[in-house]
Amino acid sequence: MADCIFCKIANKEIPAQVIYEDEQVLAFNDINAVAPTHILVIPKKHISDMNSVEEIDLPLIGHIFKIIKNVAKEKGIDKEGYRIVNNCGELGGQTVGHIHFHLLGQRQMKWPPG
Ligand code: AMP
Ligand code: ZN
Repeated sequence: MADCIFCKIANKEIPAQVIYEDEQVLAFNDINAVAPTHILVIPKKHISDMNSVEEIDLPLIGHIFKIIKNVAKEKGIDKEGYRIVNNCGELGGQTVGHIHFHLLGQRQMKWPPG
């Protein structure tokens, strides 16, 4: 996707503070952190949003959750707890049209979200 900012980050056309990378997945610091730990985990494959996840993508999505778990442990926030967020579409608050999962930690989260 030529105009997708997260595809550009995945392709290294735009810099990011990379936390973890493998063939399928990239994790990097959010540029506008809303918590002391705020990491975005994305598939390198362009998938627009949760609505666009297909059967064939399910192993990839599972892999992303494994990476989130591992990154949380490596960051030392696994025991104290953290939040995983996926925003989908307008009412979900999605602003970047490449599926991503926010890993938020090191502050008390509230429920319900705003
Ligand atoms: P969402 O509102 O769920 O679509 O989240 C998009 C997130 O991407 C926001 O938290 C932004 O701060 C973050 N973001 C946008 N551009 C960049 C960038 N170039 N590098 C890192 N994070 C970004
Ligand atoms: Zn993309």
